[in-house]
Amino acid sequence: MPTWSSVVVAAPAHSGLGPALSYRSELSLAPGTLVRVPLGAREVLGVVWDGPDEPPPGLDPALAKSVIGVLEGLPPLSVTWQQLVTFSARYYQRSLGEVALAALPPQLRELDAAQLARRLKRRAKTVAPAGGNGGLANAAPPSSEEQAAVLTALPTATEPVLLYGATGSGKTEVYLRATEDALAADTAAQVLVMVPEINLTPQLEARFRERFAPLYGEGAVVSMHSGMTPAQRLASWLAAHSGQARIVLGTRMAVFASLPGLRLIVVDEEHDPSYKSQDGARYSARDLAVYRAKVESEALAARGQRCQVILGSATPSLESWHAADQGRYKRLEMPARIGGGALPRLRLVDMNHQPKGASIAPPLLAAMEARIARGEQCLVLLNRRGYAPVLSCDACAWKSQCPHCSTFRVFHKLDRTLRCHHCGFSSRVPRSCPDCGNLDIAPVGRGTEQIEEQLAGLLSGVKRPDGQPAKVARMDADTTRLKGSLEQQLAALHSGEVDVLVGTQMVAKGHDFRRITLVASINADAALFASDHRAPERLFALLMQAAGRAGRDATQAGASEMWVQTWHPEHPLFASLRKYDFPGFAAAQLAEREAAGMPPFGAQALLRADARTQEAAQAFLNAAAGAAEGLPHRDEVTLYPAVPLTIQRVANVERAQLLVESPSRAALQRFLAAWQPLLLDGRSVPGARGLIRFAVDVDPLSI
Ligand code: ADP
Ligand code: ZN
Ligand code: ZN
Repeated sequence: MPTWSSVVVAAPAHSGLGPALSYRSELSLAPGTLVRVPLGAREVLGVVWDGPDEPPPGLDPALAKSVIGVLEGLPPLSVTWQQLVTFSARYYQRSLGEVALAALPPQLRELDAAQLARRLKRRAKTVAPAGGNGGLANAAPPSSEEQAAVLTALPTATEPVLLYGATGSGKTEVYLRATEDALAADTAAQVLVMVPEINLTPQLEARFRERFAPLYGEGAVVSMHSGMTPAQRLASWLAAHSGQARIVLGTRMAVFASLPGLRLIVVDEEHDPSYKSQDGARYSARDLAVYRAKVESEALAARGQRCQVILGSATPSLESWHAADQGRYKRLEMPARIGGGALPRLRLVDMNHQPKGASIAPPLLAAMEARIARGEQCLVLLNRRGYAPVLSCDACAWKSQCPHCSTFRVFHKLDRTLRCHHCGFSSRVPRSCPDCGNLDIAPVGRGTEQIEEQLAGLLSGVKRPDGQPAKVARMDADTTRLKGSLEQQLAALHSGEVDVLVGTQMVAKGHDFRRITLVASINADAALFASDHRAPERLFALLMQAAGRAGRDATQAGASEMWVQTWHPEHPLFASLRKYDFPGFAAAQLAEREAAGMPPFGAQALLRADARTQEAAQAFLNAAAGAAEGLPHRDEVTLYPAVPLTIQRVANVERAQLLVESPSRAALQRFLAAWQPLLLDGRSVPGARGLIRFAVDVDPLSI
């Protein structure tokens, strides 16, 4: 007897295909089953979804199509995985099929049945038998007192745990121990550990592999991130889905991994903005991790088990901090660094009292010279790559404007190009001013390339203890583009070959540098007065992280320093930073947010529009606001007028946005759900002419 199956396929909401399609099938298919179905003239991958097993009303059964086949050898995706996808689609205002299919590895869609069967066969042959070689785990160091206290508290915490631990306090060691306990408790248990950046996965993978491969086999630890090849991603996904992989390490995409035995989720550096996706469904992997742990725990409750979630950071997001203040999350603290090394002393350099035009203030330079002479290393942070952010002509008004964007092209001296960091447009540096012919076009402002060059010059007379001249190196997105180059540069730093490393924020994150005793942030002021209300929070987190890079080696810790050059030394942020008082800083920020009704005290969403002209983009947004009149919960939300984005034009596309705010998250959600169909139906929003695309961003990170 043929029956009916609801199937979701990769169709964006505006395709008008509805949440799920109905297909005939010979057998009744369990929800979560992966199938191939016809869609138009194509054959596509779909996931069977919970739905009525009868034809939709009005469908002529003679015209109905049939499921082509089931993906053999793959068990259905779990009910909790389906719940996660359903929640994400609804919360972030996307279609079910789009979220479900984006959560699967791309190759699953591309391989035909025969190819997939070959992959599965090959996998079965190569994967080490589950259970590993029965060896002993590589010994963990004895826990510190603080670690022990946290590990004792973890089993009793029923809420999500916020592990608030200083950089170097041994949080990763806690993750390893918690993983060990989770895996030992149940032979099918799996653990998901997320980190914000691909760069951080190899280091973490090495630590987890060293600890767990002897116990559970080499195949027990897999990674999942966008830097992997499609074949590697499929292999990891299959290992996780089959239960073979016991530990999955990955970036934000890993939150959607199929993990039938999931018992623990760790979100390291939970405050990091990289956890928020910036395209497609703009989900927050941190927030979804908390949701996922909740539904997994509900499903496990009958068996007396659960799935725990640990969010770790030295500078938690204000959202998580507030949740802990309210008791919704359980805060566990590890204030001390392993080995007792103190955080570096803060030295503020008042740039108002420094020689005009100096990019590195003389006292900072002197401090660096002294460190190098003693064989210590320095880290110099500047959040701007390239040589100079703008080239400018003194004789006329010419500037290195990007022809396609409302920004300047950055001067890269090494290859003598002007490059737009937004659209990628690049050209040779002109010999003379393109407008007036003046030969004297000059760089304005400083980037990492220039600081590297200047420091190399300024420190050229300084000798290291071995008599060699000081060596300056740079690390940013430009120098680490090639595969393996980041590892090489880190190795050069670790080996002591490099004395001064100049870099963007990427050098501040996660790396365990031993001999760095001086960290300097040379141009942090922009964030102090940015219109974005999250800018101070991010700056504080960055400087705390940077501080965490210094003085890791306790023998030098007492003397380590963090220098910050600023024109505003009286800014309250620095008073908190001086004491490394994150709780004080967070309390002040939260008070400001509360007074302004900002998150986490109110909920926000953005409607963003891209169009050929700024007028069209704004017209769409304003028409959308007009069309919202009378919608459910309209009186509980505030719609602000449409405004251009800070960088209004990128790659010849004009961008605008409209802020939607509500004191109630639930009301905002219901309003958006009612609004979405109107937005998708161009006719109800006349401004849609000339529009290229629009997107809703729920809980946006910057506005
Ligand atoms: P975090 O993740 O909080 O920055 P880590 O877990 O990376 O800290 O620990 C910092 C350093 O201290 C690492 O080199 C780690 O190997 C070491 N470490 C962590 N816990 C212990 C411990 N209990 N005993 C000795 N060394 C430890
Ligand atoms: Zn000119
Ligand atoms: Zn551009």
